[in-house]
Amino acid sequence: MARSLRNGDFDLVLAIQSPSSPDRWYRVLLDRARALAGETVLSCDCTGWKQDARNAAARRALAAGRSDAGLRVPRGCKHTDAAQALLGSSAGTAMPRYRTDHPYVGATRTRWAPLREFVPEGGWGIQEARVTVSDESYHLVLLQATGTTGATATAAIAFTACHPATLGSRAAPVGDWGGYTLAASFCRQAGVPLAGEPPLHFAEELIGRGPTRRATPQPGSTTSEILAIGDQRDLGDGLTPAQRAENTLRLFLGPQHALLERQGFLDVSSGLYPGRVYRLRRDPQRRYERRVRVFEDSAYARDLCIVRAQSVPEADHFLTLFFGLVADERRILSVVQRGNVFGPHSDGHERETVPAVWQPRMSQMTAST
Ligand SMILES: [Zn+2]
Repeated sequence: MARSLRNGDFDLVLAIQSPSSPDRWYRVLLDRARALAGETVLSCDCTGWKQDARNAAARRALAAGRSDAGLRVPRGCKHTDAAQALLGSSAGTAMPRYRTDHPYVGATRTRWAPLREFVPEGGWGIQEARVTVSDESYHLVLLQATGTTGATATAAIAFTACHPATLGSRAAPVGDWGGYTLAASFCRQAGVPLAGEPPLHFAEELIGRGPTRRATPQPGSTTSEILAIGDQRDLGDGLTPAQRAENTLRLFLGPQHALLERQGFLDVSSGLYPGRVYRLRRDPQRRYERRVRVFEDSAYARDLCIVRAQSVPEADHFLTLFFGLVADERRILSVVQRGNVFGPHSDGHERETVPAVWQPRMSQMTAST
């Protein structure tokens, strides 16, 4: 079940809208491990990148038996070019601050429950600009968030100028792509690079070199599914808030969601206390929040009672707690310590049969190995 860095740790650096359809998006990803080694390796969903179109002539020449090793150029497309320019220009820039009533911020907070508490009022920055990519005009939105720990993350979403759009119509995609990018980035900065799963094209290109070359699509892994899940234009789609929250949880946890379904809990290793593991359990009926079981050096030590805000779906509460223990454990514990600590088995007699194994946080410096 362990996810290797190679299989999972990519940054979404840019979501860019297709000129052919407003609902089609390309994802430009940065290989984080290679970035830590000093290399910028970007990939994209588009056909041009997948087929390595820039080297098509070289490949044809090779197939025809002519010698041309020197013809190959770095794999790329106009989208990776745009992301490359973005990476070079926007790093570390402080942006104008916006309140939570801005439509972009509101959509992001609606869609990504964990960010509601982690990014305080005043922690949101937005910048918008017209940019040109290969003679096509784009409306670029940069969404920046500063968490309660001081960690900062930035998301980039590019809308093609050829589709009519308003502030309101852009809000849903900004919330979807932006929230995903920010939440994943905060987890990675906390040393737990497990948010979501590798987007499909990466699974095909980098992992599937063996006999299992064709990757099986996973729920939530395609562009349309990611966009369909939290898109506020789809609020009349028949999904209840609980179903929408469950979809967000599935998207965020990636492969770990199946594990959660199977065993009924997920473990979060403490970043503050070596040897401590938080075991987050779910009520099979999804009605009640369960107390968190705390293990010290693999021994079940106590229960923590952390109640959810009223009217929040149970899946939202689980995700908020999971994210909070990963990204801002100190704040979560500061809430708990007000008399919400109980002895073992305080809300159920299920025996613990799976060992709770503490794992150190992956630091950014050691992650490249
Ligand atoms: Zn592309």
